[in-house]
Order: sequence, then C-alpha cells, then structure tokens
Amino acid sequence: MPSPFSFALLATADGARLGELRTSHGVVQTPAFMPVGTQGSVKAMRQRDLEEAGAQIILGNTYHLYLRPGDTLIARRGGLHRFIGWQHPILTDSGGYQVFSLAERRRIDERGAEFRSHLDGSVHMLSPETAVDIQARLGSDIAMVLDECLAYPASRDETAASMERSVRWAARCRAQFASVRDGAGPVVGATNPGQAQFGIVQGGVFQDLRDRSADETIAIGFEGYAIGGLSVGEPLDLMYVVVSETARRLPEHQPRYLMGAGTPQDLVECVARGIDMFDCVLPTRNARNGQLFTSQGRINIKNARYAEDESPLDPSCGCYTCRTHSRAYLRHLYLAGEMTAGVLNTLHNLTFYLDTMRRIREAISLRAFDKFRQEFLRSASRLSLDS
Ligand SMILES: [Zn+2]
Repeated sequence: MPSPFSFALLATADGARLGELRTSHGVVQTPAFMPVGTQGSVKAMRQRDLEEAGAQIILGNTYHLYLRPGDTLIARRGGLHRFIGWQHPILTDSGGYQVFSLAERRRIDERGAEFRSHLDGSVHMLSPETAVDIQARLGSDIAMVLDECLAYPASRDETAASMERSVRWAARCRAQFASVRDGAGPVVGATNPGQAQFGIVQGGVFQDLRDRSADETIAIGFEGYAIGGLSVGEPLDLMYVVVSETARRLPEHQPRYLMGAGTPQDLVECVARGIDMFDCVLPTRNARNGQLFTSQGRINIKNARYAEDESPLDPSCGCYTCRTHSRAYLRHLYLAGEMTAGVLNTLHNLTFYLDTMRRIREAISLRAFDKFRQEFLRSASRLSLDS
C-alpha cells in the first residue's frame, strides 16, 4: 500500500517554496506554521479556535505526553488525534529537547538519555528506540528522530561529537521506525499506519559539520528533514546563513522544517531561504504575557497608553478578538488577571502568524514573494510600538 504521506512542490519564487503536504489526516499547505500544543492542547485555545485561526497542523510534545497522561493511555484511547479531538495533521517532537533541558536531572550516553521526571522525580530512559515507540503509540502524522541538543555556544569538537552521535541515533530511529511499520519488531501498539518520520540535521554553526550531518542523515533516508539546534542564542545573521546553506543541501522534493523559530521576521526570512515548516512558542507564550504581534508593530497591552484606546488590537486583523474588543478592554482583562486575556490574546497572535503564512503562500503563488518580503520587512523595522 502506498504511504498516505507525500509532499508536492507546487511553485518556487525568489528562493521560497510553495508546497502541499499530504497525510492520512489531511493536507497542509506549505510554508506552514505549527502552533505548539505541548500537553495535547495549544495553551488557552480550543481546537475549534485553532481551526478558525487557520491552523492546518499542530505540534505535540512527546516528553510531556509520555509522562502525563502516558502514551499507552493515549494509544488505548485511539491515538492522539482522537484523544484530543483534532482530526487534522499532528507532528510530534522526539522528547529530546525537553530532556536535554533538564540539566542536572538527566544523564546522556550512547544508549540515550536517562532522566528524572519534572512531575514526580521518577527515573525514565529516552532512547532512539523508545522515542520512536512512544510517537508510534501517539500516532502523530510526522514523528521526529531523537537527536542530541547542544547548548549554544559549543566548541567545534563538542559539536562534531554530538552531531556524529545524532547521526548514529537517527539510523537507530529509522531502523526502529521500519520495524514498527512492517510489524517486524515487538508490538508497540502503533495507532497511525500512515506515520512519516523526519531526520534532523545538526552541526551548530559550523557549516562543514552541517553539510556532513545533512549528507549522512539524507543517506539514511527519511520522508522529510528538519534543521535543529538553531534559534538557541546564536546571532540572527549567523542563523540565516546556516539555514540558507543547509536548506540548499536538502532534497528539493522533500519537506524542510526549521525547528523552534521564530519571530514573524524569521519566518519570512527563512521561507526566502527555502524552509517549508516552522514551529515556535513565541506567539502563544507572548500572548499570555500581553505581548502582541500586529501589522503595525508589537504591542505590550499593559502599557498605560492603551487604557482608553478604543481601537482594535490590529485594524488589519479579522480575528474574533480584533472584531469584537478594544485595546482598552484587552488591557483591563490582562491587568485584572482574567483567563479571557490569555484566550483572546492567543487567538489574535496565532491568527497573525497563520495569516502571515497565508500571505506568504499567496505571494509565492503570484510569483511576488520578494516584493512581499521587502514590504513585510519595512513594516517589521517599525515593529515594537512599545518597549
Ligand atoms: Zn486579531
């Protein structure tokens, strides 16, 4: 049976790519932004709000779902889509990023990462094989390989050793993925036979290491490729150079995913460098802190200047928040600590991000991406109405 997963490159313009990702849970138009749904929930959003905002795919965090409620419970409930009531595509990360962030609570060797749960201190092992098994039970449409995440800055030697380990882990992940898919290995209770798996290119800011990582990861063979280990504190210019050089090395007819980036400007700049998929907590996390992205600049809603401002958050936005409420009311909700502040602000920020992606796709299809990019960056340079 042919895999329900496929990617079609529909058009290119000024380095940007317009594409279509097909999964057994529907189609994702690329370039795409994936809202982050850490615990099977994009914070403050109902699934219907996500649909209304234009989300076509969301990201789930394996680390959190594995610890609570548990991947086996989710598999018994029919898989993640059914459990959370989201019938559109889902990508899950490998859990590695969260485990590596645990600092003193984890130990890493060639087998994988042993860590203590942040919830109850219990000891767990995340290996390339268990990362595949857990994601198979969750049943996401796209599963990520387990890679080693280094803190920035790291020396060349450290980065090289870590990149080489990530390549070895990627090969183990692929072997495990194949054995789960073909039913050759132990039964893990996979819930999505159409699941695809992406490899991750590492190598820090050293381009020759990135090149080697890309070549060796491509040689293993995945349905798509991610660029990991960026947006971790390196200078922005350097990130753009690495993205550009690395994306160029990836297969043209497979999807490319830049992990963990970024600002609206980063999205536009990295689309220009050939990236198809993004995820970032910025729009959702900032919304809960009263930091809002608008077409006229960033707004800090708690600023006193909005106390009696009758205008909508963003006059160019069609979201429910902007259609219904004034900046004055949103400021009041935020200062009063009302839950609706998080809800309304998140709805707006996600709409802004997803609408930016929609406009990017439209510009590529009209072969006018470069013009869009120049205009967007001009307005972005005005960004930050409040400090
Ligand atoms: Zn809005």
